Amino acid sequence: MKKRFLLVNPWIEDVSAYDYWLKPLGLLYISSMLENMGYDTFLIDNLDRFDPEMTEKYGSPKTSYYSTGKFKKTNIRNPQCMKEYKIPRSLKRYGFPEELFREKLRRYKNVDAIFVTSMMTYWHYGVSDTIRVIREELGDKKIILGGVYATLLPDHAKRYSGADFVSPGTGCLPLKNALNYLQIDGEIDPQWFHKMEPSYEKYSSNRVIVITSSTGCPFRCVYCSGWKLWEGFTQKNPESVVDFIQSIIEKYNSQEIIFFDDALLIGNVFKNILKLIIKRKIKTRFHLPNGIHVRFIDKEMAELMKEANFKTIMLGYETSDPELQKATGGKVTDSLFIRGVSNLKDAGFKTDEVSAYIMANLPDQREKDVYNAIEKCVELGILPKINEFTPIPGTEQFNDLVNRGWLNKDIDPLLLDNSILPYWWEYGFSAETVQNIKNYSNKKRRVFLDEK
Ligand code: SF4
Repeated sequence: MKKRFLLVNPWIEDVSAYDYWLKPLGLLYISSMLENMGYDTFLIDNLDRFDPEMTEKYGSPKTSYYSTGKFKKTNIRNPQCMKEYKIPRSLKRYGFPEELFREKLRRYKNVDAIFVTSMMTYWHYGVSDTIRVIREELGDKKIILGGVYATLLPDHAKRYSGADFVSPGTGCLPLKNALNYLQIDGEIDPQWFHKMEPSYEKYSSNRVIVITSSTGCPFRCVYCSGWKLWEGFTQKNPESVVDFIQSIIEKYNSQEIIFFDDALLIGNVFKNILKLIIKRKIKTRFHLPNGIHVRFIDKEMAELMKEANFKTIMLGYETSDPELQKATGGKVTDSLFIRGVSNLKDAGFKTDEVSAYIMANLPDQREKDVYNAIEKCVELGILPKINEFTPIPGTEQFNDLVNRGWLNKDIDPLLLDNSILPYWWEYGFSAETVQNIKNYSNKKRRVFLDEK
C-alpha cells in the first residue's frame, strides 16, 4: 500500500504574533518531494486563518493590510522560565483552537508517519505542545521534527520537543535522514529546488502565496542565521518562477504574491522575473516583506517593480551608525540607502508602500542611533519599522554575547524572544526604552499615513 504522511505546521506560542503572510514553505516542498516519490501527503496548517472548518466554526478571519491579520489566540499558562524571570507578559497560543486540531488529527489515524516543521527557536513551546497533542491523538505513530528550530538547536529539540526523530538541516537532507530513520525507500531528486514547486494544492484557500526564487544569502550579517542554514546561494531560473506564479494565479486567483527570499535582488534573476511578469501582463499584487538589499535598487530595478505592481517593499536598513553598519556585516551604508530610496521614490512609490527595518536593542547600540535611523526614514519619505533584536542561537552575535558573559548559552530560547528580552536582559535597552522608541516610530508612521 502507498505510504501516507501527515505534515503539520505547529502552533505559535508567544506573547504576541501576527499573520504577516506566514506559510510553512519548507513543509510544502517536503510534501512535493514525497509526492514525487509516489507517496500521499496531507497537511494540517495550524496557522491557516482561511481554513474553511476554522472559519465555519469560529467566524471569518479579520483581514487588514493585504490579507494579513490576527491569528485566533488562546490563553495558556506561562512556562516556568517566564515566572522565574518575572516577565510581566502572558504567553498565548496562536492558531487553531485545540479542539479543531484534535478533530482534524483523528482523520489521519492510518498515516505512516507525521512530519512537523518549526520556525523561530523561541517558539519551541508551540512545537512541543503540538507534538504532545499529535501523540495523544495518533498514539505510537512516528513523529519527525524538522525546520529552523530543529536545525539551530537540535539538542534542545531532541530533549524537549517530544519528537521521535529530530532531523536538522535544509533542502532534501532532513527528509533523506528521516526516511532512513523510518526505513522507507525514496530517492530525492537533488535538483528538487529547480524542478519542484511548493504544494499549495493542500490548501482550500490560496489568496496568499509565498514563494522563494533563491535559497541562502551571500552576506554574513552577525545577527542572522539565514546564511548559515543553506550551503551556498542558489537561484532559480526566472522563467520557472514566473510560470509558477502564472499557474497559481490561474488556478487560485491568488491576490497576494509574496517573495520570501533572503537575497532576492542579487544578480539579474529578479530583474528578469520582473520583465517576464510585465511582458506576460500578470495582474496581481506583489510584496517584499523580508528586508531587501537596498544597495541593489538601481533606477531600472525600481521602475520594473513599480510597473509589475509591487505594493509592499521592506528595506533592510537596521542601523544608521556607520561603525555598527560595518561591524554587523556591512550590507548597507547611508549613501547606498539614500540612493536606493531615491530610485524607488523617482519610480513613483508612495510613502506607505516603502518601509525600512530598523533594529533596536542591538548589542553596543546607542538609543540615539535608533532615533537617527527613524529620522533618516522620515527625511527620505518612507516609513520606519522597528525590529527588536533577538539573539539567535548559533549566530556570530549570539556566540559573541556568550563569550562576553552577557548570555548563558543554555538559556531557555523563549527568553530570547524580542518581546521578552528587554524585561530581563541587563545588557540592552529596558522594556520602557524599547516601548518609547516604538511609540516614537509609530507616531511618525501615523503622521505619514494620515497625510496620505
Ligand atoms: S543580508 Fe539578510 S539574509 Fe543575508 S545575512 Fe544579512 S540579514 Fe541575513
